Amino acid sequence: MVIVMKPGARQETILALVAKLESEHGVKVSITNGVGCSILGLVGDTASIDIDKVSIHKDVERVMRVQEPYKKANRKFHPEDSVVDVRGVPVGGGNFTVIAGPCSIESEAQIVEVAKDVKDAGAALLRGGAFKPRTSPYSFQGMGEPGLDLLLRAGAASGAPVVTELMSPKYCELFEEKVDLVQIGARNMQNFDLLKEVGKMSKPILLKRGLANTYEEWIMSAEYIMAAGNENVILCERGVRTFETYTRNTLDLSAIPAIRRMSHLPIVVDPSHAAGMYWMVEPLAMAAAAVGADGLMVEVHNNPACAKCDGQQSLTPEKFRRLMGKLEPMVELVGKKLVK
Ligand code: PEP
Ligand code: MN
Repeated sequence: MVIVMKPGARQETILALVAKLESEHGVKVSITNGVGCSILGLVGDTASIDIDKVSIHKDVERVMRVQEPYKKANRKFHPEDSVVDVRGVPVGGGNFTVIAGPCSIESEAQIVEVAKDVKDAGAALLRGGAFKPRTSPYSFQGMGEPGLDLLLRAGAASGAPVVTELMSPKYCELFEEKVDLVQIGARNMQNFDLLKEVGKMSKPILLKRGLANTYEEWIMSAEYIMAAGNENVILCERGVRTFETYTRNTLDLSAIPAIRRMSHLPIVVDPSHAAGMYWMVEPLAMAAAAVGADGLMVEVHNNPACAKCDGQQSLTPEKFRRLMGKLEPMVELVGKKLVK
């Protein structure tokens, strides 16, 4: 961190500020006295220093962070890619892992059929929402706990570990017991109480990017989970809000190389929620693989026209199978291995 003092700041004021920073935050401060103004260079653990509090000091001109505010998620301190283990299924490193399944669990027949189809087509993990974050309180809210049990049955029938969204800390215990990969949805990316709670879980976490969040905010949310003790975090880019209304969201593929540089955590792409249209899923999925994503999350429904949620963006099992066939050579081209 660098602090630029205002011209004319008195030496004793500067020394008092330095003493305060050193004693309260354990940092080392070196003072450079230039012509007209002094610059303070802080080294050490500056993460606990509140920039706003320093900026408000009457003799401070400007404060700049030169280091990222995240540590555990930072690639600087962990140069190798992290590989997250989801009940035997690797995510990250040289692997390409596909998560597929319906937006929401609707019945035993539906989830079991889709589970078998997607697993057979090459998906490694099964998704399905039991607790659904819906914009309208009048829309289908998911089957809740009974839905979770159907998901587990479908997981067992297909042999795929299961991924589902957790919306409330009150279900942490239930998810800890039953779910293989706990999804935190876009709307909850900055629900810090929830992040702290899932940080205490032993199950890996799939952290979706918020509707309008920066890479740093997203990584800071991962940092919350990691700081609470759970280092098994997978990031998921699912499109962000932009001025464009043609698509549901705008898929930000720059996130993949950017996150790769900033963090060691794996990153997967959800083209379904990004596009909001089934016919765009395949080209976006191919692009995600080409740009180096560690996997995909794709919505698949056996009867999209009758789906209770997100049918318009869901692939049929046939379309999903075709996508998987096209994907494999692309995954190999970028030097990764499709996890089956
Ligand atoms: C989902 O994956 O079912 C979902 C609701 O996605 P998001 O949180 O990205 O909107
Ligand atoms: Mn959905």
